[in-house]
Amino acid sequence: MIKPKIINTSTHYPIMEHFYSLQGEGVFAGQAAYFIRLAGCDVGCSWCDVKESWNVDESQYLDIDYLLSEVNRSKASIVVITGGEPAMYDLSPLTLALKNENRRIHIETSGAYALSGSFDWTCVSPKRFKEPLESALKVADELKMIVVNKQDLKWAIELSEKCSDTCQFLLQPEWDKAEKVFPIITDFIKENQDWKLSLQLHKYLDIP
Ligand code: SF4
Repeated sequence: MIKPKIINTSTHYPIMEHFYSLQGEGVFAGQAAYFIRLAGCDVGCSWCDVKESWNVDESQYLDIDYLLSEVNRSKASIVVITGGEPAMYDLSPLTLALKNENRRIHIETSGAYALSGSFDWTCVSPKRFKEPLESALKVADELKMIVVNKQDLKWAIELSEKCSDTCQFLLQPEWDKAEKVFPIITDFIKENQDWKLSLQLHKYLDIP
């Protein structure tokens, strides 16, 4: 991973892509949202489906005013800040600006870094390659576990015990292993009914 040359700035963020679409997974699946995908991640998941987000180039930096104008053009009420690993950056300036525009702000993070900024919904999707901080699990509204094999279910239970009572628990098959892990997930959810299935609908529907 090439480390970003600029990490803390109050006006610019490295952006891999930004677009208006439907949330494809998790608790808000199916709802319209504007996605801001920050570039840069050092978590290193072997099955990562956005490996192109790992590295940061100086040319990718966009300023907050430009991002706000794009969000406002979309009329999206929800803005999802994702990555890469967005918590690598100080998100306070960006979330303050979005809040001033009355947007509902969601974040999707592995939980490997301390969170900065203010969020209406925090989705923590832990990765074994860089385990989540307890502080991130405590504030998670949604714990979304990616399931590659049976061991991940044991880890899911362990992590869920560190979350708040109101946190929602989801199991999502890793895309390439979906067929193999569906039966394992189904059996688990039938036995553990506080867990739900999350599917990557955007991949099934071939939308961004
Ligand atoms: S945390 Fe997300 S972006 Fe980073 S390597 Fe893992 S799946 Fe990819």
